Amino acid sequence: MANSRFEYVKQFETHDKLLPDCYIVVRVDGKKFHEFSKYYEFRKPNDERALKLMNACAKNVVTKYKTDMILAFGESDEYTFILKKDTALFNRRSDKIATLLGSLFTSNYVFLWNKFFPETPLNLKHLPYFDSRCVLYPNLPIVKDYLSWRYVDTHINNLYNTVFWELIQKCGMTPQESEQRLCGTLSSEKQEILFKDCGINYNDEPEMFKKGSLITRRGEILHIDVIKKLDELFEGF
Ligand code: ATP
Ligand code: ATP
Ligand code: MG
Ligand code: MG
Ligand code: MG
Ligand code: MG
Ligand code: MG
Repeated sequence: MANSRFEYVKQFETHDKLLPDCYIVVRVDGKKFHEFSKYYEFRKPNDERALKLMNACAKNVVTKYKTDMILAFGESDEYTFILKKDTALFNRRSDKIATLLGSLFTSNYVFLWNKFFPETPLNLKHLPYFDSRCVLYPNLPIVKDYLSWRYVDTHINNLYNTVFWELIQKCGMTPQESEQRLCGTLSSEKQEILFKDCGINYNDEPEMFKKGSLITRRGEILHIDVIKKLDELFEGF
């Protein structure tokens, strides 16, 4: 483009290069998916189709950028992509990485929606979109703690949601009563309520619900005890 007298405005743009030699963690999260999931009648607490759709989108992102990725991990309406510390992806520009991975994820979600929800067309007034951020972590122990944080979050949320919805769906409680019943209970007490009041052994719940989904660089989707496998997952990085 030829220079014009307007060109100076470009100088106001700041660049946002991420520090070298640090791991880049990108997390995308669905915008208002509490409402989105209600509108499209997701099964509560876990809609398997929606989780599989998230996995399919993330797998395509990992596959496209596999030389930059270590792994990805997803639960609910969020997915985390952990990039190598020496990645040169988009010149390590934070805005580029966050917006491009976020929009690639979103375009996959829209494109693949129909495959997972063949009966339910997307409505223009209720389209899915995702926020996306980059976080820098300076060393592997903190990256492992990051992944452990999301993994534990999956477990805590899933246990709570499973009992919460079982008390409503099986025991006929109102949402308020169910919330009251669970208020202040420990993890072990929740499992006991689930077993005694609803006849469900938490251990028998689907692995994807309990453990989230981990995608390797090779594109395998696993539902594993992430904390037990941390050393193996990050070996060589
Ligand atoms: P925000 O825009 O701030 O992220 P949000 O409504 O998306 O708001 P989140 O904390 O991201 O809030 O929670 C996502 C919500 O989406 C969950 O609480 C749940 O209600 C719903 N949800 C996401 N995935 C599923 C699923 N597979 N099955 C059922 N519900 C889901
Ligand atoms: P980057 O990823 O850095 O943005 P880019 O290839 O998208 O790379 P841009 O400077 O954004 O580079 O330029 C967009 C290019 O897309 C244009 O140069 C042109 O070749 C093409 N393009 C965009 N819109 C049209 C259009 N409506 N008709 C024809 N070509 C188009
Ligand atoms: Mg352009
Ligand atoms: Mg959020
Ligand atoms: Mg969300
Ligand atoms: Mg979320
Ligand atoms: Mg362009």
